Amino acid sequence: MEIRKLYKFENAHIVRGCTSRRCSESIHGHSYKVELIFSSDYLDAGQMVYDFGLTKLTIKELIDSFDHAITLWSGDDPQYLADMKKWSRRWVELPVSPSAEQYARVILLIVDKVLQNTETVNQEKDVIISHVIVHETDTGYAKASRKDAFSEAMGRIDLEKIKFSDGVREEWSDPDIWEKLLRGHKIVNPKKI
Ligand SMILES: [Zn+2]
Repeated sequence: MEIRKLYKFENAHIVRGCTSRRCSESIHGHSYKVELIFSSDYLDAGQMVYDFGLTKLTIKELIDSFDHAITLWSGDDPQYLADMKKWSRRWVELPVSPSAEQYARVILLIVDKVLQNTETVNQEKDVIISHVIVHETDTGYAKASRKDAFSEAMGRIDLEKIKFSDGVREEWSDPDIWEKLLRGHKIVNPKKI
C-alpha cells in the first residue's frame, strides 16, 4: 500500500546547461510542491502504513531546508557559488544541478537515509520511500523511483557532498542532524506526538 505526503517550499536556482535560456542563465524561483510516496506491505499498530505525524519531524525539517533558500550546484562557477553564499544566509549546495529531476532523486535519497536510520516504536514494518514527485510548476513535474535515485546511469549522488548552510542548520531542532545521519546515528521515533 502507498501513502502520500505533500510538502511545499519556495526556492531559487539556475539550471546550467539546460536548453531554456531563462532557466540556464538567470536566477529564478519556483513554488515547489514535493510529493513523498511511502509504501509497505504491512500496517502498524494504528493500522496505518506510517503515521503522517512522524513525517512532520526530521523529514519535514530536512525538506524545509530548501524553503526561502537558493540551491546551488557544486559544479557551478566558483565565483557564482562564493557570491551566493556571501549574500544569502540560506543555501543548499548539491553535487548535482538543481533540476526537478535531480531534486526528486536527492530528496528520495535524503528521506531514505532518515528512514533507514529511524527506529520505529509502533510496529511499522518495511516502510520505504518508493517515489518522490517534484512539481516545479502547475504543469510540469519529475517523478523519481528508487531505481532512478540510485541509478549509476544518471550519476551516483554522494550524500556526503550535500552542504546545508549555517543559516539553514540553525533552524533545525538539531543543527548536526544531517552529519549524524550520515554517520549512522539512529533517530528514535517518539511514542506519542
Ligand atoms: Zn527553474
